[in-house]
Amino acid sequence: MIAKKEEKRIRTRFAPSPTGHLHIGTIRTALFPFLFARKNKGTFILRIEDTDLERSKKEWEDELLMGLNWMGINWDEGPVVNSLDYIGGHSPYRQSERTKIYRKYLEQMLKDGHAYYCFCSKEEVEAQKQYLMSIGESPVYRGACRDLPKETVEKYLKEGKPSVIRFRTPVDTKVSFNDLIRGEIEVSTETMGDFVLAKDLDTALFNFTCAVDDVEMEITHVIRGEDHIPNTPKQILIIRALGFEEPKYAHLSLILGTDKKKLSKRTSKTSLIDYKDDGYLPEAILNFIAFLGWNPGTEKEIYSLNELIADFSIEKIQKSAAIFNVDKLDWLNGFYIRKKSLYDLTRECIPYLIKANLIKEIAVEKYLVVETNEETHLEEIEKMVALYHERLKKLSEIVELIDFCFLKELDYSAELLKWKEMSNQEIIDSLNKSKEIITALEFNQENLEKELMEEANKLTNRGNLLWPLRVALSGKNNSAGPMEIAFVLGKEKTIMRIEQAIKKLK
Ligand code: GLU
Repeated sequence: MIAKKEEKRIRTRFAPSPTGHLHIGTIRTALFPFLFARKNKGTFILRIEDTDLERSKKEWEDELLMGLNWMGINWDEGPVVNSLDYIGGHSPYRQSERTKIYRKYLEQMLKDGHAYYCFCSKEEVEAQKQYLMSIGESPVYRGACRDLPKETVEKYLKEGKPSVIRFRTPVDTKVSFNDLIRGEIEVSTETMGDFVLAKDLDTALFNFTCAVDDVEMEITHVIRGEDHIPNTPKQILIIRALGFEEPKYAHLSLILGTDKKKLSKRTSKTSLIDYKDDGYLPEAILNFIAFLGWNPGTEKEIYSLNELIADFSIEKIQKSAAIFNVDKLDWLNGFYIRKKSLYDLTRECIPYLIKANLIKEIAVEKYLVVETNEETHLEEIEKMVALYHERLKKLSEIVELIDFCFLKELDYSAELLKWKEMSNQEIIDSLNKSKEIITALEFNQENLEKELMEEANKLTNRGNLLWPLRVALSGKNNSAGPMEIAFVLGKEKTIMRIEQAIKKLK
């Protein structure tokens, strides 16, 4: 009986280079292979491609790890957060620590003849490329050092003549692969020439390290950005030359802004940390990013991480560029904010209030918040946040929405108290009326609503009562309604603010 060939267990990877802030678009490059691995009960690997020692920094790597963690994109193999350790059986997972592995494979390729030392100077290579361009051919290295006698190579190496290690690219051959998103892609080796694999045995370059690691780490599916399409045929050739089988490839389309241009710092926030600081929730970002180039083919727009895992498939990834529409992200963020309990939302808003100096410090266990000038109970802050629970789009907005609740005196111009054609005296009378009603009533939201509306409804224009009162209490052109605010402020503060407004008009 012939044993059925066992399907390889799916292994995907995210292989970032820690050379800058974690770009929000990069999250998608992590998310898709993660979803694919999870969906297929496979393994998701995080590999740090830090061979560019000048541009790679530990702080960028830390930001990357924290960012992925925050988003809930967890890896099964790779570096451990806040540690130099690794998890997984293919460590190390930082390329800077894998020099020995690359050296071993470089030596193997030199021995097999798949690679060779090249001693051409930069100027010589450049002159040759210029010549090729002048006759309309691809400016590639055509292999002047390909067949140097062994003795010459040894002599030059001994003399310390500068060299690089090049790949002996098969001449005039086609390399093709079936991209899981784009279909068949075929490239002629004439467009590659004998490209450089390594500066020396201890300094391998990107295509080589990436190809070696993908086979060493037994990656079955490489899912990455389309900017890597030109590298794929080279990596396939390297992998085949090493005697391995290449993984499957899927290249994700670009992410563009609504102006159809590449997302840039000049036109929008680009780093994940900025979105986090602005009060975007990870679940909203995740939902939003998943739809950049993928959709389930149904009307369903709200997706939790687990639902994404359940519904994800590479076939539903689109070839065309994805459009990053921040309005959609805001809408999703508002949705997830509304879904939060008031308790949780308030706690998430508190760091913003502290940062804005509206409150000083908190001892949540005691449900006590110490305000700049006086003590505020956490319950009171909950009431303030509740005013905007339905309308809040980002956590950071809470500061300018509820700052007036904390201030001793509001800073606004008397002009703002004026509703339509009201005279100063009419505004004063209106505010006095509100004060009289509020002073007399038993203070709760229901009574506030009932008594003030009863009075407002007597007037030809309700705004004559409600507008000056709302401005007196909030100092703002836009805010929640006056009764809601009065209830949050409490009787004493409400009356005090009405008096302060009247004073402004005199
Ligand atoms: N380190 C590469 C980059 O950050 C990605 C390599 C890959 O995914 O193959 O662009």
